[in-house]
Amino acid sequence: MITVESFKGETVAVMGLARSGLTAAEALMAGGATVLAWDDSPDRRDAARRRGIPLADLNTARFNGIDALVLSPGIPHTYPKPNSVAASAKAAGTPIIGDIELLAGAVPEARYVGITGTNGKSTTTALIGHILAAAGRKVAVGGNLGMAALTLARLDTDGTYVLELSSYQLELIDKAAFDVAVWLNLTPDHLDRHGGLEGYIAAKRRLFRTVRGNPTAIIGVDDETSRGVADAVSRENAWRVTRISVISQISGGVFVENGRLIDDRERSADKVMDLHDVPLLPGRHNWQNAAAAYAAARALGLARADVVAGIASFPGLAHRQEPIAVVAGVRFVNDSKATNADATAKALACYDSVYWIAGGVPKAGGISELATYFPRIRRAFLIGEAAKEFAATLGDKAPHEIDGTLDRAVAAAYEAAKADGGTVLLSPACASFDQFTDFEARGEAFRALVNALPGARS
Ligand code: ADP
Repeated sequence: MITVESFKGETVAVMGLARSGLTAAEALMAGGATVLAWDDSPDRRDAARRRGIPLADLNTARFNGIDALVLSPGIPHTYPKPNSVAASAKAAGTPIIGDIELLAGAVPEARYVGITGTNGKSTTTALIGHILAAAGRKVAVGGNLGMAALTLARLDTDGTYVLELSSYQLELIDKAAFDVAVWLNLTPDHLDRHGGLEGYIAAKRRLFRTVRGNPTAIIGVDDETSRGVADAVSRENAWRVTRISVISQISGGVFVENGRLIDDRERSADKVMDLHDVPLLPGRHNWQNAAAAYAAARALGLARADVVAGIASFPGLAHRQEPIAVVAGVRFVNDSKATNADATAKALACYDSVYWIAGGVPKAGGISELATYFPRIRRAFLIGEAAKEFAATLGDKAPHEIDGTLDRAVAAAYEAAKADGGTVLLSPACASFDQFTDFEARGEAFRALVNALPGARS
């Protein structure tokens, strides 16, 4: 845990006592602050009490005399309706911050890479962390992905924090500054929490809010909003902007053409590597992540050869088109993280012919937007609440069956795929909570079922 001394002798309220909140409270206490902590859940309060964190009902607290409110990113402070604690803090003029802000204040000597975007954050964060570590750099990876910011190791001037940042976390930074700021893409998401698209964009734009040194902004420009952001950040002159694209050539930027990663930052159209050779970054969406990670690592001073080696040896992230095993010639791929049709489209685009396991709790629109991929589906194996609806959408356009549960779907897909040594893809296009606690539990169940197949080496 990192000790936070920036509030020594002051009083800080901590609202929300899940993982990051508990650590924030402890980090502040260790640094000499008086902490008043609260969570509306009695279980969470018990957990805090057991760890010796002082509790106070912040719903009835007056914020005069409280120097800051540390808010969990999951708690709304503006839309759709501000949490009452956040509203009292705001009314009293108390700054509302999150654990990323605390980390940046506690360890200003380290370097910071912040990664945001609607999609690809985790993959790009993990990839940048991997490239830096493989090149021998001292690095700590966390934030929205994996470890909460204040549970990371304390780094020195030669260390780099690589942080995945959600829009909720970005709303809670003020002076945190990034030496390399990566903005991958932007499509409408979480609009209720941000009061609409403008609010969502404004939250994400806080990534570029504070400038120190000569920072680099790496911005994917394959959607209109992000193009506008790149132009606006360029105009501010404080950032060196590297534009990224996987759909067109970008003069002075980094782009991918037919799978070839091309570095034109020095106007030399340098052919860096063929991303077709990186099996753990399949698909054009991953090329965007690879291009951004390449530009980030280069901005941090890594040699080209080290970056190429790091991309090539990326082990991938669990549950995102993760290869599980090949059993009797059948390849099993776990894409449990695909909780909506958009994400599943990215996976289906990678296969000409696939045995597809889908279903769970459907999102609005179901799988109708996947119709262009239906000809690639050799057979669909449908599970969960969505099964009937998906069967109706597939109709006579793709063979399918309703298996109900994942175990039956895996067994049936295996039997079917054995005939041609095909690929079985779990990419549900659905939330998981009708049958699993979360997408990770669903992916782990898939892994266990595959490894238990007759003929699997587990
Ligand atoms: P995030 O952390 O932003 O949710 P992940 O790296 O976990 O992103 O990827 C989640 C899913 O989003 C992947 O399974 C894939 O379907 C899709 N995805 C990944 N990278 C991109 C990208 N650059 N653009 C669009 N979709 C992407």
